Amino acid sequence: LHVTGNRLILTNWFSTSRVVLGPNDTVKMWIDGKAVESKTKEWIELTNPATNEVIAKVPKCTQSEMKAAAESCKKAFQSWRDVSIISRQQCMFKLAELIRRDMKKLAHNITLEQGKTHADAEGDVIRGLQVVEHACSVASLQLGETLPNVSKDMDTYSIRVPLGVTAGITPFNFPAMIPLWMFPLALVCGNTMLIKPSEQDPGACMMLVEMAKEAGIPDGCVNVIHGQHDAVNFICDAPEIQAISFVGSDQAGQYIYERGSKNGKRVQSNMGAKNHGVIMPDANKESTLNQLTAAAFGAAGQRCMALTTAVFVGESKKWLPDLVAKAKQLKINAGWESGTDLGPLISPQAKKRVLGLIDSAKKEGADVMLDGSNVTVKGYEKGNFVGPTVISGVQPNMTCYKEEIFGPVLCVLTADTLDEAIDLINNNPYGNGTAIFTTNGATARRFTQQIDVGQIGINVPIPVPLPMFSFTGSRGSFRGDNNFYGKAGVNFYTQLKTVTQMWRAEDASKEAKPQLAFP
Ligand code: NAD
Repeated sequence: LHVTGNRLILTNWFSTSRVVLGPNDTVKMWIDGKAVESKTKEWIELTNPATNEVIAKVPKCTQSEMKAAAESCKKAFQSWRDVSIISRQQCMFKLAELIRRDMKKLAHNITLEQGKTHADAEGDVIRGLQVVEHACSVASLQLGETLPNVSKDMDTYSIRVPLGVTAGITPFNFPAMIPLWMFPLALVCGNTMLIKPSEQDPGACMMLVEMAKEAGIPDGCVNVIHGQHDAVNFICDAPEIQAISFVGSDQAGQYIYERGSKNGKRVQSNMGAKNHGVIMPDANKESTLNQLTAAAFGAAGQRCMALTTAVFVGESKKWLPDLVAKAKQLKINAGWESGTDLGPLISPQAKKRVLGLIDSAKKEGADVMLDGSNVTVKGYEKGNFVGPTVISGVQPNMTCYKEEIFGPVLCVLTADTLDEAIDLINNNPYGNGTAIFTTNGATARRFTQQIDVGQIGINVPIPVPLPMFSFTGSRGSFRGDNNFYGKAGVNFYTQLKTVTQMWRAEDASKEAKPQLAFP
C-alpha cells in the first residue's frame, strides 16, 4: 500500500474484479465465476471517504443482467445441492485459509472504500472469517433428528435440506464481515446465493466471492449484482429467490421484510440500534471509561453495536469529565495513517446528517461538552471527518436520543437507580445490544433478567456473540424468526423434511381390513 499525495495506490491486485483506482474504473458484476462488465448507462460514484476522490464507478445493473445472475444461481443449485457435505466443508476450510492469506489486501480495500482504520478493518475481516470457520462444522450443524419406534415397525427422522437460491443485501459499515455472515453459511448448507453489496463499498465482497471460486466453490453458486432500489426490488420480487438476508437501516429493512414476505420469501432483517451502556457507581472506573470511549468512537461510531448512549447511575456521573478527557485525546485522521483512532464517515451526506443531529441537541437544550462538528484534518481537508462528540443532559424526548446517529457521538443520560436505567432502556424501541459496568454480580444478574434487549454485555461494551452463538438483536432491531449465524443461521438457510417409514417383513393376513380411522 502506498500513499502518493492524497491518493492511495493498492498494489498486487491479481484480478480484474478487484480494486479499482480512478473515476473511469468500474466495479464488475460477478456472474458464473467471472467478473463481468455491466452494460448499464447508470453508474454510482464510489469515493474514498477520507478525500472524497472518486475511486471507481459502481453499476446500477440492468434488469436482464440481474435476471441472468439469478438464473445462474438457480442452475448452479441443481448440482450444488447434491455435492457431498464433506466436499462443501472442504471448500470452507480452503476459503478460511484464503481469507487469512489475503487479510491485509481485504483490510486495505476496506480502509480505502469505507474509511475505517487498518486495524479495525482487519477486525472486520476476522469477525467474518470466524463465521467461515464455524461453517466448517456443517457436518454437525446440519444433522437431523431420528426417533425409532414411533409406532410398531415405524421410525421417523428429519433432515435439513437447502432452500434453493438465497439472496444477501448488505450495508456499508462492515463490507467484509456481513457478506461473510451470509454466503458461507448459505452455501455450506447447499444453497446458492445472489449478493447485492452496499454500493458505497463493494470491493471487499468482490474479493471474497473471487476467493470462493479459488476455494473450489463451483461457478454460479455465488453471484454479485450491484445497484440500489431497483436491485433490491428485483431481489424481493424474483421468483427464483427463496430467502433474503438483509442487514442495514430500518427504512430499507422494514421495506425488504414486507415486500419479500409478501412474495412468500423467508426474510431475516437486522436493522438499526441505540445501544445503552449502564455505568454503576461500583464499576471499575478506568477500565469502564476506556471501554466506553472505545465502543462509542471506534469506527467513528459507524457500528450497529456501537455503545452510543451512556446512562450514569447515581454517583458515577462524577466521572463524566474524565470520559470527556479520554475522548479528547483520540486521534482523527485517514484510516491508513499510523496512530489513527477514528477515520471519516462514509459520505458527505452522512456527515451532514450527524452534524444536524449535534445541532439539534444544542437547540433542544442539551450540553455539548465536546463538539467534533468543526474538526479539520491536515492533508485531508475534503474528507468526511467528525470528531468525538459528547452530549450530556440528554432527555428521551430529544431528537439526538430518538434517532440512531451513526457517528462518533456519545449521548449521556443519568438515572438515580438501576431500575430507572432499566426502564429507560426497555422503553427505547431498539433491542440490538446493551451493556452494564459493575463489580456486583447481583446487580449484573438483575440487569440481565430485567432488560428487554437481545444482546447483553457485562463489563463487555460490544457484546457481539461469536458464531457458535447467533447475533440476537431483538425488538426494533430485528425482523424475522431465525437470527444470523450459529444454529439459528443454519435453521434460516435450511428447511426440514420429515420422513416416517415402516419396514415390516411379513404381509398382512387376508382377513385384515383397511383401517379408515385416523391412526
Ligand atoms: P442502508 O439501509 O442504507 O443500506 C443497506 C442496503 O440496503 C444497501 O445494500 C443499500 O443499497 C440498500 N438500501 C438502502 N436504502 C434502501 C431503500 N430505501 N430501499 C431499498 N434498499 C435500500 O444501510 P447502511 O447505511 O448501508 O448501513 C447502516 C445501517 O445498518 C445502520 O442503521 C446500522 O445500524 C445498520 N446495521 C445493522 C446491523 C445489525 O446487525 N443490526 C449491522 C450493521 C449495520
